[in-house]
This record gives sequence, structure tokens and C-alpha cells, in this order.
Amino acid sequence: MKTIGLLGGMSWESTLIYYKAINEGVKKELGGFHSAKIVLYSVDFAEIEEFQNTGQWDKAGKLLSEAAKGVQCAGADFLLLCTNTMHNVVYQIEENIDIPVLHIADATAEELLRNNVKKAGLLGTKFTMEQNFYKNRIREKFGIDIVIPGEEERKTVHKIIYEELCRGIMNYTSEGKILEIIKRLSENGAEAVILGCTEIPMIIGQEDTAIPLYDTTLIHADAAVKKALGMP
Ligand code: GLU
Repeated sequence: MKTIGLLGGMSWESTLIYYKAINEGVKKELGGFHSAKIVLYSVDFAEIEEFQNTGQWDKAGKLLSEAAKGVQCAGADFLLLCTNTMHNVVYQIEENIDIPVLHIADATAEELLRNNVKKAGLLGTKFTMEQNFYKNRIREKFGIDIVIPGEEERKTVHKIIYEELCRGIMNYTSEGKILEIIKRLSENGAEAVILGCTEIPMIIGQEDTAIPLYDTTLIHADAAVKKALGMP
């Protein structure tokens, strides 16, 4: 079994989900007392959030690159960034390490392709929804069209992520607001919706809507299990 490297803490609320899902996945495949071999480096999210807010992506990339080097030194065979947003500095991180990064958008797009989805809605932080690092990768590398919510709705989703979910607050009203936005994405042609923020699945699940949802946290965790165990 390969050792999975996790760069977490963004936020720790969702890193918890990764840790559990990866161990459950290994247990399901191997049975008995088996559990995942994991090296976890959990950052202080306040530092990352300040860099995001002030547009200092380069500094965030530097901080995460140092952390990634630590994960590599501790014996990880490959690395997961346990966040969608910080994949906007993935190239900077990749330049500083020798182990491969398992990209969250690639794992998600492969799942969409398997299900023949041609057009998907995207929910996430304003960075993930508005910048090109995520949408364009899915469009250009996988040929899947991406639709995002309107400006006010993007603000709403972003606010829910940072003011509630990343602080461990789960609010019924916010759940309703996100479901409304999902409905509108579907009306705008989305055949499925990517929950492109690792905390959104804390309040929204497939049981809440008929529109197919792609939970990036679980998809990413599952891809890590498969890679660690050498499964196709
Ligand atoms: N975990 C979130 C994501 O998947 C947001 C927090 C962050 O900015 O990393 O994008």
C-alpha cells in the first residue's frame, strides 16, 4: 500500500472528512484491521485565509510548498491538497516536490466523464467559481462545460463557506439557499452540480435534491484510496 500525503487544515472541518473517508475506503477494500497509511500536514487556516483575502497567492503557494516538502520528507508517495480553492497554486507546489499531486478537479472530472455528464454546475468559493484554474482545467482537459451561479448567488455561497462551514457552523437557512442555487444551475442547463468546496457536503447531500451532485471531498478521498491500493 502506498502512503497518502494530505495537505489539510483548509479547513480542518473538511480534513476530518478526508481522514475518515480514506480510512473507511481502505477498510472496505482490505478488511480486517487494515487502515490507510497517511502523512497529514495540517496548516493554520487563518494564515491561508489572509493570503487569499489580500490576493497574496504567491505567498500562500510558498507556505503550502514548504508544507508539501514536509509531507514528502515524511514518506508520502503522492499528495492531495484537501481543498479545491488552493489548487490555484498547484503548479507552484508541484515545482517544489518530486511526488505527484492527485488533482481534485481531475478526479471529479473523470467521475463526470464516467457518467457522461457534458455540462456541470460549479459551487465553491468565489475564487474557485470565478478564477480560471478550476473551470478551464475541466473544460480544456476533459471537454466538460461548466456553468456558475450569478454574482449575488456566488457571494452567498462564498459567505456561507467562510462565515459558517469553515467555522463548523451548519445552518438550515443556508442549506435552503444553496439548494435554491443548485435548482437554478439545473434550470440553466447543468446536468449535474459539482460541490467544488470541500465543506459544502457538510450541509448538502444527494438526499436533498434529485439533481446529481458530485461531492469533491469524497471523490478525491476515493481516488486516493484507489491510487494507494493500485486499483484502476
Ligand atoms: N475547503 C474549501 C475549498 O474546497 C475552501 C477553503 C479554502 O479556501 O481552502 O475550496
